[in-house]
Amino acid sequence: MSVSLPQHCPMTQFDVEDDCLLIGGMPLTRLAEQIGRTPFYAYDRQIMTRTVERLRRTLPEEIKLHYAVKANPKPDVVGHMASITDGLDVASAGELEVAVGAGTPRECISFAGPGKTHGELARAVAEGIVINMESERELTILTQLATETGTRPQVAIRVNPDFELKTSGMKMAGGPKPFGVDAERVPAMLDALANQPLDFRGFHIFSGSQNLRPEAICEAQQRTVELAVELAGHAHTSIRMLNIGGGFGIPYFPGDAPLALEPIAENLGELLPVVRKNLPDAELVIELGRYLVAESGIYVCQVLDRKISRGEVFLITDGGLHHHLAASGNFGQVIRKNYPVVVGNRVTGAAREKASVVGPLCTPLDLLADRMDLARAEPGDLIVVFQSGAYGLTASPTAFLSHPAPAEVLL
Ligand SMILES: *Cc1c(COP(=O)(O)O)cnc(C)c1O
Repeated sequence: MSVSLPQHCPMTQFDVEDDCLLIGGMPLTRLAEQIGRTPFYAYDRQIMTRTVERLRRTLPEEIKLHYAVKANPKPDVVGHMASITDGLDVASAGELEVAVGAGTPRECISFAGPGKTHGELARAVAEGIVINMESERELTILTQLATETGTRPQVAIRVNPDFELKTSGMKMAGGPKPFGVDAERVPAMLDALANQPLDFRGFHIFSGSQNLRPEAICEAQQRTVELAVELAGHAHTSIRMLNIGGGFGIPYFPGDAPLALEPIAENLGELLPVVRKNLPDAELVIELGRYLVAESGIYVCQVLDRKISRGEVFLITDGGLHHHLAASGNFGQVIRKNYPVVVGNRVTGAAREKASVVGPLCTPLDLLADRMDLARAEPGDLIVVFQSGAYGLTASPTAFLSHPAPAEVLL
């Protein structure tokens, strides 16, 4: 039996046995005993593998699948993702170290991000990874580094296109943006790098995140390919890499449904001949973070106190926004909505009630569930927040209020 939640879409990736959630084949209560403390994050590697397998089955075979490390940079998670995807995308020197530690071939690691320091660029050159340049300044520094080190760094240009990924949770392209080089400035940059000791690979065009509308993703992919073909006309060498971004979303909130992959696969199938004809040497890459890992993870905290305030039930837990900012609604959400939450050791629970789950912090922002339909819980019960495998711990202000950091386990 999988987990069904009122209002939210079912969490079919998890089974339930004797009304207790199973993760990694183990009852949650046993896992909590093994870890010996709460709160904790637990990630199930088999769920990640199944997600990647589903993508591979559905999308055209030629598409390379990269994992964006920032979604979950825990080293053993990155190690697992490296073993089942075709490459890793990093966004800092810290992530670069993790990616190199995962044993990924250097040419399969790419480094994007505005504001790379001289030290980070030097590190990337020394490691021989692909650097997605986000400005003319980066081109200048890389040219100097190439000359100084006598190497030929692999570079790509991250392009800020003149369109956006519509209805995205986070828009990262189109209009004025700090990310990438405006498309209209790319031809001049291609001229500038032509005679430099740089190995130009191609383009990186990432337009947004957390999108649940296949038609928006298809439109962005189509325009991305058109733009890349146009820009390739200004390049002095052939294009060997085209990273068309990702943006695949997962269902977090009431009313969300899982992203339909079939229309995206069909659209990519139609774009591939265009790429083959116009960019015959290009490898087509999509990069996904949350889609690959978010559903594999849960955040678990323990009920410390049960309070009734003027008729409303508050479950006060040892976990909160300092560990899981996104579930509290404070990581980019415009209107706060509840993540899928259950009482993990009484998933269906015969007795139910409307309750709010809060953390120990002295701020009303520390809210994990706002008046949700939950099994009636008591101190000692385990609260589970689903869809927590991406942008969880490392996207949270763990130092706020000086509580201990949660444990993290990969199962
Ligand atoms: C954040 C980011 C990603 C990952 O986004 P998801 O929504 O997790 O898939 C991929 N590429 C770039 C350049 C990013 O900044």
